[in-house]
Amino acid sequence: MGRTALMQHANRLTALEACSPEESFRQLFTVLDSLDAVVYVTDILTHEILFINRKGMRDVGVDNTVLGRKCWKVMQQDQDGPCPFCTNDKIVDAQGDPTGVYTWEFQNTHNGRWYFLQDRAIRWTDGRVVRMEIATDITERKLAEIAQLKRDAILKAVSWASERFLAEGDWRNHLPDLLRLLGQATNVSRVYVFRNSYAPDGSERMNHLLEWTAPGVPSEIENPGITNVSYEEAGAGRWRTFFLNRQPVAGNVAEAPPEERKALEAQGIISIAAVPIYTEETWWGFMGFDECRSERRWTPAELDALQAAAGILGAALKRHSIEKDLRRLTSRAEESSRAKSEFLANMSHEIRTPLNGVLSMLQLLTCTPLTEEQLEYIQNAETAGKSLLEIINDILDLSKIEAGRMEIEPYNFQLSRMLSSIANIFNQQLQGKHITLNWGIEFGTPEWLLGDAGRIRQILFNLIGNAVKFTKKGSIEVEAFAQPCPEDDESIQLNITVTDTGIGIPKNKLDAIFEPFTQVEGVRTRRFGGTGLGLNIVKRLVELMHGTVSISSTVYKGTSVRFDVRVKQGIAPAQAGEACIMPAFRVSKQYTILLAEDNPINRLAASRFLEKAGHTITCVNDGKMVLEELKTNDYDCVVMDIQMPTMDGMEAVIAIRQGQAGEINREIPVVALTAHAMRGDREAILRAGFTDYLAKPVDMDALLITIANQMRCIQPPEQ
Ligand code: ADP
Repeated sequence: MGRTALMQHANRLTALEACSPEESFRQLFTVLDSLDAVVYVTDILTHEILFINRKGMRDVGVDNTVLGRKCWKVMQQDQDGPCPFCTNDKIVDAQGDPTGVYTWEFQNTHNGRWYFLQDRAIRWTDGRVVRMEIATDITERKLAEIAQLKRDAILKAVSWASERFLAEGDWRNHLPDLLRLLGQATNVSRVYVFRNSYAPDGSERMNHLLEWTAPGVPSEIENPGITNVSYEEAGAGRWRTFFLNRQPVAGNVAEAPPEERKALEAQGIISIAAVPIYTEETWWGFMGFDECRSERRWTPAELDALQAAAGILGAALKRHSIEKDLRRLTSRAEESSRAKSEFLANMSHEIRTPLNGVLSMLQLLTCTPLTEEQLEYIQNAETAGKSLLEIINDILDLSKIEAGRMEIEPYNFQLSRMLSSIANIFNQQLQGKHITLNWGIEFGTPEWLLGDAGRIRQILFNLIGNAVKFTKKGSIEVEAFAQPCPEDDESIQLNITVTDTGIGIPKNKLDAIFEPFTQVEGVRTRRFGGTGLGLNIVKRLVELMHGTVSISSTVYKGTSVRFDVRVKQGIAPAQAGEACIMPAFRVSKQYTILLAEDNPINRLAASRFLEKAGHTITCVNDGKMVLEELKTNDYDCVVMDIQMPTMDGMEAVIAIRQGQAGEINREIPVVALTAHAMRGDREAILRAGFTDYLAKPVDMDALLITIANQMRCIQPPEQ
C-alpha cells in the first residue's frame, strides 16, 4: 500500500470511529452482507440466531425473521435438537472463554452443497460469548476433488486388472473381479459387460455376458429384453452411434430420449454410463454402469477412467485372441513336426530291415570260399553298410524321440557288468592302438540298479566311441558313482564321466556341441566321419531319464563328458541273469533249434548264422507249424518271431506253455524276436511265456549269447 493509500485508509477508520454506534453497525452489516460467504452468529448457550448476513439468508432460503430462532431448526430445517456435529464445545474452554478458530468442512444434505467453515467464539455487544460461523461455499472444488478420488479408485481397479490380465492369458478368469472392483470404486448399483454378436444380415446384436450388482440391487442378467437383441430393440439405438465413434454415453435417465428412457426405467435405472470396448479396430461390445438410487453426475475424469478400464479389457481380449491363434499355429506346427518325425521313424525302420538283410548276407558270404579280391570287396561293402546302418539308427532314435515315441523302460541291471562288457567290446577296437581304456565304480555305489540299461549303454557307446575316435594315444577313463537324487527321495542319481586324452574341442565350439549335426571339423576337412547326431541323442536320452549332460575340454589335452541319469536301487536276482550284458564269444555247445520266422531273408540270415556257430536249425513259417514240429521232433530251444501269419508268436507260446506242443515242451526255452520294441512289450512278451526277448534287427552275437544263456539257465554249467 502506497503512502497516499495508507493515509486514506487511516482517515476512513477514523471516520468509522467518529460515527454513532448505529451508524457503525450499519456500515459493518453492509460489509458483512457484501461478503461471498455465509456469516451468522448464535448464542452458545441457547443456540438462538443473533445475526445472519444476506448471503446466509439467500443460501438457506430465509429472511431476518429467523433472528431469535434456534439455529438447528433454521439451518437444518426443523431439526429437533442441536446438531450432533455442533462445534460449540470446540470453540470455548472449560471456563467458557474463546479458544480460537475451529475450521472444518461440511456438506449440507438439503441443498447438497459443500462448505468450508470457520467457527470462533467472540464477545457479543452485550458481553455474552457467542459463536460466529463463516461458511465459504467450496462445492466446485469439493466435487472436483471427489471426482479425482473416484477417478483414482477406478484407475486403481484398472491397474489391478491390467496386472492380472497381463499375468494370465484368460481374461474370463479376472472379469468378475474387475466388475466388482469397478462397481465399488464408482459406487454404482450395477456393472456389466455386453458382447456384440452379428445377425446373418451383419447387424450387431448385444449379448449380456456378465454382471455385478451391489447388495440388494436386482440382477438383469436373465432379462430377455436386453440380450441377443439389436441395439434398437433394446432401446439403445443412440448408443450404437456413440460407440461406433468410440464415445461413451452418460447421463440421468430422465434426460434420455423417450424410447431409451422407457427401457432403462424398466430396469430401475436412474442414471447410467456406458463405454465401448474395442479390440484394436473392432468394436467388441460395451461396459455399463447403472445407478438405481439417485441421479448422479458423471464427470469427464470418471468417464476417462472407465474408458481406460474398457481399454484394458479390450487389450486383454486382443492378447487372448493372439495367444489362441499362436497356440493353434504352434499346435499345428508341432503336429506337422511330429508327423514328419513319425514318418522319418517309420522310414528308417523300413530301410533298416532290408539293410540288415544285406549285411547278414554279406556276413554269410565271408564264410564261403572267396578270392582275396572278392573278400576285400565284401568287407568294403560291409563297412559301408555298417556305417549306413549307424546313421539310420541315429536318425531313427532322434525321430523317435522327437515323435515322442522313445520310451524309457527300466529293468534290473548290474553296473559293473555293463561297464566291463562295453569295455571288452571297445578293447577289441583298441588293440594295436596306444590307448588304454579303464573303468571304475566308486565305493558305495549300489551293485544292482533299476533303470533303462539299454539306453545308458547306448549313451556310453556314443561317448566312449567318440573318445576312441578322437584320441590317438593316452587313456580313456570311465568313472561312475551314485548319489541321492535331490528331487526324488526314492531315486538315485547315477553319475558317469568319460574322460579322454584326445584332440579336445575348441572353447568356441563347446556351446553348440550338443546341437544336432554339429561337428568341430568343417565339411571339407572331415577326417573322422560321423553325422554330428551322437551327442544330441545322448543329451535327449539323458533328459528322458531326468538327467543332465555337460562337457569340458581343452584342445590337445582331452575331453571329459559327464552325465547323470535318475535310476532306482535294483534288486539282485536269485540267479545271475542279466543275460544280454556279456562279451561276444563263440559257442562251446551245439543245440537243436527251431526257428520260426516268416521273412525269408531274415530266416535265411539267422539260420545260416546259427548253423555257422555249430547249431542245428529247423525253420518254419508260423506258430502252427511250431506246435506241429515240436510234437514230432526234439528241440533244445525255440527262436520265434512275434508277427507271423496264421498263428502269431504270442498265441504259439501260450499254446506251448499249455502243453499243446506236448508235455515235454511245456518248459522249453522260447526266445522272442520282435520289430516294435515299445514300452510294455517286454513285459507282455515275458508274461505270455517267452523266456527272453530280442529286438529286431537282431544282432547275431546277441542271439548266440541269448541262446547260450537260455541253456545255462536250465542246465548246470559245465565244470
Ligand atoms: P559325430 O561324432 O557323429 O560327429 P557327435 O554328436 O557324437 O557326432 O559329436 C559331435 C562333434 O563333437 C564331433 O564331430 C567332434 O567334432 C566333437 N567331439 C565329440 N566328442 C569328442 C571328443 N571326445 N573329443 C574331441 N571331439 C569330440
